[in-house]
Amino acid sequence: MDYSYDLRGFILSESVSLRKFRLKKLIDELKSKRGYHTELISLYIPPNKVLSDVTNQLNQEYGTASNIKSKTTRKNVLDCITKTTQRLKMINSIPDNGIVIFTGAIPQNGQGSEKIEQYVIIPPKPINIYKYLCSSEFYLEPLEEQLAEEESYGLIAVDRGEASFAILTGRNLQILKTITSGAPSKHDAGGQSARRFERVIEQLAHEFNIRVGEYANKLFLEVKNLKGIVIGGPGPTKDKFAEGPYLDYRLKDKILAILDIGYSDETGIKELVSRAEDIFRNVRYVEEKKLVQEFLGKLSKDTGFAIYGEKEVKAALNNGSVAVVLISESVDIYKVTVKCPQCDYTEDKSVSGKDISKFRAEINSLTCPKCNTPMNIISEKNIIDEIGELADLTNAKVEIISTDTEEGAQLLNFGGIAAILRYKSD
Ligand SMILES: [Zn+2]
Repeated sequence: MDYSYDLRGFILSESVSLRKFRLKKLIDELKSKRGYHTELISLYIPPNKVLSDVTNQLNQEYGTASNIKSKTTRKNVLDCITKTTQRLKMINSIPDNGIVIFTGAIPQNGQGSEKIEQYVIIPPKPINIYKYLCSSEFYLEPLEEQLAEEESYGLIAVDRGEASFAILTGRNLQILKTITSGAPSKHDAGGQSARRFERVIEQLAHEFNIRVGEYANKLFLEVKNLKGIVIGGPGPTKDKFAEGPYLDYRLKDKILAILDIGYSDETGIKELVSRAEDIFRNVRYVEEKKLVQEFLGKLSKDTGFAIYGEKEVKAALNNGSVAVVLISESVDIYKVTVKCPQCDYTEDKSVSGKDISKFRAEINSLTCPKCNTPMNIISEKNIIDEIGELADLTNAKVEIISTDTEEGAQLLNFGGIAAILRYKSD
């Protein structure tokens, strides 16, 4: 069985939540695949790799695998390598994002029932490692990293005398810079009057905040997909900085929280990361809530700009009137077409995402109602992918809504599929 996934995303309806959903679904599926032995091959090819080098390595691996003692394991591994080499021959050039090929002898129904399954994936972002790995499970970490890397947050830890900047992308924390003000401490007051000293200190604090703002603007404005900014610090400086005229308005709009933390150096940044986790999670929830509320608001006013139901939404997508489609993540249904190889009898089936692996594995036990021959799957499509493709044709956005919020649960009352229209279609 062969499966191909182009996860670069639909070109027009490019939606982060849809791309994440598709990648996560695929990772979860591949994660569930386990071999009895090291019979699962993972091959990551970055865009700049020379294909003939990869083929050469596969030939070497074939030689090595010929020495595997267990007869079954040897046969399975050799079959997997052969199938990988064959698949590579079909590629003229490596896609811009590279390509990932998983080939494994996957048990379908207990030991001895292994079948070779192959998954060819064009990842959503360029992969930068070359890796060949033979194991009892697929090596998925680089894809998981891409899943985490969809959104970035800017972090600023700031105090009177010091400020640190970092970008958090997925689990990857990049500490960019720590700057210091060089402001005098209270001990340096010397003979000056307390009031005069106070003014000097204030002026210096203001100047330092200007510098912090300049650094933040330079570092964060160019970050793609910057979802928000979190500011923290031990004293009142963080509030003055956040409220004052220091940050570019585009960044100011993205301030998610101002937090009390103990430090303004790298330790402070790490403190911010651990304190801000809940805030980051909430950002998407707030977006989802707003989307569903907008839909419900339009629906209750009966303006004709809100529709729901698979059939209705598909029809509106087809005539180009949809602005945003809202799909619940729990609408995980595959439309599978099965066909009898003997008499060509064809039937469409609806299979839920959690049952699809089992359905594929046991397809041979499904027999033709006309002539009793075991049926074949000739095509299958996830409803979310189907809607994504339709949306792409008319530049409609697709938002995957989790069931973690009250609004997300409400969406299920509408069959889990709804849309907000650009104009009334009738
Ligand atoms: Zn038949």
